[in-house]
Amino acid sequence: MDLIHELTEYFRKFPGIGPKQAQRFVYHLLRQDTYTLQKISSAIAGIKKNVRTCAGCFRFFMVRQDEKKCSICSSKNRSQATLMIVANDSDVESMERSAAFDGQYFVLGGLVPILNKNPEEKVRLNELRKLVEASPDLREIIIAVNANPEGEHTLNIVRAKIADVAEKIGAKITTLGRGLSTGAEIEYTDSETIKNALRNRF
Ligand SMILES: [Zn+2]
Repeated sequence: MDLIHELTEYFRKFPGIGPKQAQRFVYHLLRQDTYTLQKISSAIAGIKKNVRTCAGCFRFFMVRQDEKKCSICSSKNRSQATLMIVANDSDVESMERSAAFDGQYFVLGGLVPILNKNPEEKVRLNELRKLVEASPDLREIIIAVNANPEGEHTLNIVRAKIADVAEKIGAKITTLGRGLSTGAEIEYTDSETIKNALRNRF
């Protein structure tokens, strides 16, 4: 296989990328100078070594001095009383951009597909349950997932998974309010809408 073809095949495996787009990426790379290409390849080579899953929220973060937790989880300025459960790392970024939330996060690692029989294998439900059990200071757990059928399904599964432990520690479970229109994906929602959805949580 020639290199153009090989690279195209790699890009095709990226989420949401079709064969035409994959090919455009390769031609884009071919137009870059050697220095840029070296920067890109060393960034890719270092990604496994320098990026780690946070021991607190499970999102990816850049390791600086062998720390186990990300900057949000290790911050002293954030509330320990609120936990927001999101599907993906990109949702944390959208929330942080809106600057409307100052609690802790938990990243599920995806949404649960509607016909999935073993949601525990698909997302971090067991880890979440353990975290809630071990967080007596929590007063509110916000399940913040996309307003589409998969999101609704995930919301129900998460709620069922942690309802008893949340009650035990005295934390209420809430979800994002309307404002987030039906079908909306958090990743593509603007900060103002996120703020409203958070304000109107129930
Ligand atoms: Zn973290």
